[in-house]
Amino acid sequence: MRGKLALWLRAQWEAGVFQTRADISMFVLNTVLVAITLATAGSLMVAAVLANFDLLPHPFASPLGFDTPTTVLIAASVSALIAWLFGMAIREMALSRAKYERLARLDPLSGLLNRRAFIEGMAGKTADGFFVLFDVDRFKLVNDMHGHAVGDAVIVAIAEELERVFASLHLVGRFGGEEFAVFIENDDRGDCSLLVEEARRSVAARRIAAARGPVSVTLSAGIADRPASRPFEAVFEAADRALYLAKSLGRDRTIHEDEGEELLEPSRRIAAGGRRR
Ligand code: GH3
Ligand code: MG
Ligand code: MG
Repeated sequence: MRGKLALWLRAQWEAGVFQTRADISMFVLNTVLVAITLATAGSLMVAAVLANFDLLPHPFASPLGFDTPTTVLIAASVSALIAWLFGMAIREMALSRAKYERLARLDPLSGLLNRRAFIEGMAGKTADGFFVLFDVDRFKLVNDMHGHAVGDAVIVAIAEELERVFASLHLVGRFGGEEFAVFIENDDRGDCSLLVEEARRSVAARRIAAARGPVSVTLSAGIADRPASRPFEAVFEAADRALYLAKSLGRDRTIHEDEGEELLEPSRRIAAGGRRR
């Protein structure tokens, strides 16, 4: 039981339901207060009922001196209190569960859908569209030159730009590290290219403040067709291969899966044919 409570507290902590230790202390304090209130109210009600039926042993019965109307009043008040407390507890549990489920679907840094939630969301899309995999170019250099905190700020800025360009109509997620995914719910290849280029332009134009001067980054993108019937693994692999080709061709560009390896010089074809991971 204690182990389960500890596990539950840890899950709440990791989901961000408890932000500080003070939140946990308040939760424990509230729980203890509610338990004491319930115990007191319950024993008062039992005492009233027992005294009313002369079942309370001396010396409790006579000093309490409950008559029937008092008993009914106490029983009704206590029942109302218990019902209210249960109502509050159920509401609290429903709210924290909803919050927990929402947080479990989001990437904590960028606020975008995490990989699992993105894949689930895409599985639910029955319309044809395009799957786009974006990867930040030379991101390691940003971390190395400006530090991890600036790297994180860059990820947040990219997420904001992708949300702005895509999120009202399409699915946007952080796939891990410096990789982002978008499902464009539109089967027109021209529209898809325009959106992807707008996103890449917006990101490239963004300046992120850093001690050593503003930082900007570019994105490479790989696009794969996603007819509703195509399994996600095949879609992902095609986009990943296209992204790898975009990197091999010099980065800061978009490649569609149809654009084949003829774009590469012969010496680079072998490398681009392999999986990146
Ligand atoms: P490429 O153009 O080939 O993609 O080069 P790259 O440097 O972007 O790729 P690489 O895979 O070599 O490095 C990715 C770096 O991203 C390494 C890792 O430390 C960093 N990174 C991954 N996740 C985070 C994060 O959440 N925050 C920060 N600041 N850095 C991250
Ligand atoms: Mg990268
Ligand atoms: Mg990467």
